[in-house]
Amino acid sequence: MCLFCKIARREVPSDVVLETHDILAFKDVRPVAPVHALVIPKKHLTSLGDVGIEDTELLGRLLFCAHEVADKLGLAASGYRVVLNTGRDGGQSVPHLHAHVMGGRAMAWPPG
Ligand code: 5GP
Ligand code: ZN
Repeated sequence: MCLFCKIARREVPSDVVLETHDILAFKDVRPVAPVHALVIPKKHLTSLGDVGIEDTELLGRLLFCAHEVADKLGLAASGYRVVLNTGRDGGQSVPHLHAHVMGGRAMAWPPG
C-alpha cells in the first residue's frame, strides 16, 4: 500500500501545512533545507509519467498549492524551489507524485 496515499487518508501521521479537497501538503520528515514541504494529489498518481489529460487541472492546482505552501511557510518574498523528482534517474524514492517545496537558504544550481 502506498505511503503517501496513507498520509493523504491520515492513516499515517504527518505535519500538515495545507489541505484542499484533492491536495495535501505536509512537512518532509527528512528536510534537506531549512523549510521543506511536500505537496501531493490525494489521487494516486505514480509520477508525472502517470498523469493523464484528465489530470491537468489537478496538476495546475498542485502547483498553485505549492506557492500557497511557500507563502504560508514564509518563503514567498525570499524565493524557493519546487522540484518533481520523476523516476529512477530523477531521484524519485516514493512512487506517488509529489512536489518538493524547499527554501530558507539559497539553492545551488545545477542540482546534483
Ligand atoms: P523523492 O525522493 O521521492 O523525490 O521524495 C520523497 C520524500 O519523501 C523524501 O524527501 C523523504 O524524506 C520524504 N518522506 C519519505 N517518507 C516520509 C514519511 O513517512 N513522512 C514524510 N513526511 N515524508 C517522508
Ligand atoms: Zn499513492
